Amino acid sequence: MVEPDQMPKPRCTSCGSADILRDAYACWDVDTQQWVLHSCYDAFRCEICDVQSNHVDFLI
Ligand SMILES: [Zn+2]
Repeated sequence: MVEPDQMPKPRCTSCGSADILRDAYACWDVDTQQWVLHSCYDAFRCEICDVQSNHVDFLI
C-alpha cells in the first residue's frame, strides 16, 4: 500500500507548494442539503504565492 505522502499531488509551478485551489462550480443537492462539486475548470491558484495558472505539476 502506498502512503499518501508518496503519491503525486498538484504543486505550484512557481513555489512548489501543494496548497492549490482550483476553480469549480458547486450545485445544491436537495437530498443532502449541501453544496456538492459539479465541475472543475482549468484555472488554479496557489494559496502560498498567489500565482494563478492553467497548469500545475503533479509531483510527489
Ligand atoms: Zn506557489
